[in-house]
Amino acid sequence: MNDCLFCSIVSGEIPASVRAETENVLAFDDVNPVAPTHVLVIPKRHIESAAQIERADDELLGELFGVAAGIGMEINGGWRLVSNVGENAGQSVFHLHFHVLGGRTMNWPPG
Ligand code: 5GP
Ligand code: ZN
Repeated sequence: MNDCLFCSIVSGEIPASVRAETENVLAFDDVNPVAPTHVLVIPKRHIESAAQIERADDELLGELFGVAAGIGMEINGGWRLVSNVGENAGQSVFHLHFHVLGGRTMNWPPG
């Protein structure tokens, strides 16, 4: 998709610090980390948000969670997996992404 920041990262147009890559999934450091580990896990194909995931994406979803868990399990003390959907939730990039956060104590409920 044109004009999508994360599609540009997938294509290599915009550089990113890549942490993991599979056939359909890319994981890279968030440019503005809010925890010692803050990695974004995205499908290479453009999907707007978690609200647009369909049953046909079951396999892709497994791949996304597999990559996220692989990163999370390297973090001592636990980790958090977050996907913001829509503006009230704080979504600012409209290409599906899961935040893998860890390396510090976190509060609940989130802000
Ligand atoms: P959201 O706010 O949509 O849940 O998450 C978007 C995330 O993308 C934010 O945490 C933000 O810091 C990150 N981000 C925005 N622009 C860039 C960029 O150019 N490169 C990388 N690596 N992350 C970005
Ligand atoms: Zn995109």
